[in-house]
Amino acid sequence: MRPGPVARLIALVVLVAAGAATFLGLRPPDPVPADTPASEFSAERAFPVVADIAREPRPLGSAANARVRDDLTDRLTGLGLTPRVESPLGNVVATLPGTAPTGQVVLAAHLDSVPQGPGAADDAAGVAAVLETVRALRAGPPLRNDLTVLLTDGEEAGLRGARQWVRDGLDRTTPTVVLNHEARGVSGQSLLFRTSPGNAGLVHAMRAVPHPAGNSSLVAIFRLLPNDTDLSVVIGAGRPGIDSAFVEEPEKYHTAADSPANLDPASVQSQGSTMLALARELGATDLAPLDPTASGLPPQPDAVYFPLGDVLVTYPVAWEWPLAGLAVVGLVVVAALARRRELLTTRDALLPGATSPLPLVGAAALAIGLWQLLLVLRPEYADRPFLDRPVPYEVATVALAVLAVSVWHVRVRRRVGPCAAALGAAAPLAVLGLLAAAFVPGAAFLTTWPALGLVIGQALSVATRNSTAATVLAAVPSVVFLAPFAVAAFGIGGVATPIPAVAFALLGLPVVAVLDPVGRRAAALPALALVVAVGATAVGLA
Ligand SMILES: [Zn+2]
Repeated sequence: MRPGPVARLIALVVLVAAGAATFLGLRPPDPVPADTPASEFSAERAFPVVADIAREPRPLGSAANARVRDDLTDRLTGLGLTPRVESPLGNVVATLPGTAPTGQVVLAAHLDSVPQGPGAADDAAGVAAVLETVRALRAGPPLRNDLTVLLTDGEEAGLRGARQWVRDGLDRTTPTVVLNHEARGVSGQSLLFRTSPGNAGLVHAMRAVPHPAGNSSLVAIFRLLPNDTDLSVVIGAGRPGIDSAFVEEPEKYHTAADSPANLDPASVQSQGSTMLALARELGATDLAPLDPTASGLPPQPDAVYFPLGDVLVTYPVAWEWPLAGLAVVGLVVVAALARRRELLTTRDALLPGATSPLPLVGAAALAIGLWQLLLVLRPEYADRPFLDRPVPYEVATVALAVLAVSVWHVRVRRRVGPCAAALGAAAPLAVLGLLAAAFVPGAAFLTTWPALGLVIGQALSVATRNSTAATVLAAVPSVVFLAPFAVAAFGIGGVATPIPAVAFALLGLPVVAVLDPVGRRAAALPALALVVAVGATAVGLA
């Protein structure tokens, strides 16, 4: 049953290639130059507006806030709209009438910033992208639906502008979809990270986005964060919308370093291309079914969504249960088949299955231990979990996850052999798929597809007694789904939370099972991981 050295080399090459392709796909698109056709979104055209807005902090009530508001009304007038400033706060609102409107698409961003910094990413980039999108829409054929520009004030002071607009400005009977634009860092792709409930129609519209980013698991992560956005007020009123944000380099968020110089133009391009595609798609759609509160139509079901390359995969949330159940049942069936072929005994199958949560718990405990050690040596880290140079500690966290997984694999593999060890590695993924289907709707795909990949791989392996193809196949979904999730998990709370370590352990289980190191090399892996963890921590401290 053990794949030969060539098969394992192929597996390693395929997994590294799958990981590289996945990460290349996560980079934002290159900024489009200013001489591109007028109906396209160009970050180069939007960027001078960002630099102009983000010259200085502009909190609610400040002179800079008033200057920016005057400047934005001038710019909207220049685009051929008739903006109005809505008191008592200073929301700037303007509408571009549609040809045969079924409702309105709202492009929203906030014009204020925190007092601590100029807010180039948060949210001058969103405001500038709204203006550039309106300009591009004006250059193309008119939309069927009305388009409303909503630049809110006082977002950073408690979503005050959004509250005023939802109370006084949002018509109760006009079908409305709000597209809100935010940032929690200064680079990275713009992620479609949250929708209102009953999102099937919104997710259908997302399929028009050229390079869709973000997925239906992110809303669960958003709920773990202390952040909030204007869209919460819209959703709270029972109205539909989509939240997008770029979130990389979170250490610069809400600081003086959120400046035009640090803002990645590629993130503005990502935000703008996504906004323009959604505005065109929803601008041509009958909005009544998307806004049941306004139209009185029945609510829509919920949909799972995630990109594979540039294709947005979507299916009903109701499918999460059967898919997760299939992974669990498949695991049991493959174990039974392997037993009939005398590849393992019942006891062999139970040991790795029952002990497979241990590497996850171990990785979490080691990551918590590392952070507590860092707090003893560098008490100032407690003030801001997003460190200026986090990479050495992130490397140490990954190494600690590898340590936990490899120690478990060496011990279990020695007792029960490769087949049972590989099935054991799939068990936590399959069970987490079931738990997510029950408690975190929209997120089960993250572990269900990796578990199904491992089940199919092991089934082929058991059926053919030749595991080369299966070895290669089995762990590809794990890398494609879990590697980006594990890396992104550092964005939740840096290395101060054990979530990235657990995510890397989840990824490590199938990868180590597939590569199946044994003998001296297997014993060397935990030792190497420990050396890397200690060395990287020392580098970080130095
Ligand atoms: Zn913001």
